[in-house]
Amino acid sequence: MTLDELIQRVEAARLRRSEHLIVQIVAVTKYTNDPEVLKRLFEDGQRAFGENRVQDMEGKVKALEELPIEWHFIGNLQKNKINKLLKLNPFMIQSINSYELAEAINKRTDKPIRCLIEINSSGEPTKHGMDPEIAVDTYLKIKENLPNINLQGVMTIGTHSDDEKAIRESFRKTYKIFEQLKPYGAKICSMGMSNDFEIAIEEGSNMIRIGRALIESYM
Ligand SMILES: *Cc1c(COP(=O)(O)O)cnc(C)c1O
Repeated sequence: MTLDELIQRVEAARLRRSEHLIVQIVAVTKYTNDPEVLKRLFEDGQRAFGENRVQDMEGKVKALEELPIEWHFIGNLQKNKINKLLKLNPFMIQSINSYELAEAINKRTDKPIRCLIEINSSGEPTKHGMDPEIAVDTYLKIKENLPNINLQGVMTIGTHSDDEKAIRESFRKTYKIFEQLKPYGAKICSMGMSNDFEIAIEEGSNMIRIGRALIESYM
């Protein structure tokens, strides 16, 4: 799907939720190492890109450094990669999955960085992200104690399933946490990928992360 085709589907889905909902698109780049692919996407108008490995992000950031791209880190961040990631000056880190990780990032930077907490909304043990039960408390604790972690909201990966109800349920659970955090400055609810972004938007997502379905058209 091209960016225009994606935007049309996003537009239809958001109107099913609310005419006031604005949905941002993050193009996930993990399926290509060819900067030309990303340049074509940029030329079509895409400005926010997401990557889930620090090493791969480094190569892409450097190859495209002349372009005004917003880089989002969306993967599992190992503590020994924090410095390397911070050097790339990411626009946002979407995958804060524990207080300890936030603490480690807070210590290694002296300027606030935008972050989302990642919630394991599916309960699948192989997935990263914090238990929904502790998400609100952890968010508030980070906000209170770690001045360099500029919390902006939540991120989740939906349940991996053919059962639309189960997928919807995981998004609904995340949206409820987002709502509880709105009074504390949460603005971003990042959920929805190639296979489930329309369901995510219907459940209130205002940031989708699209890889495969988008990148394929630009390869
Ligand atoms: C890969 C990935 C995506 C994009 O997934 P697609 O199914 O390729 O759209 C989104 N979010 C995260 C955290 C990912 O790792």
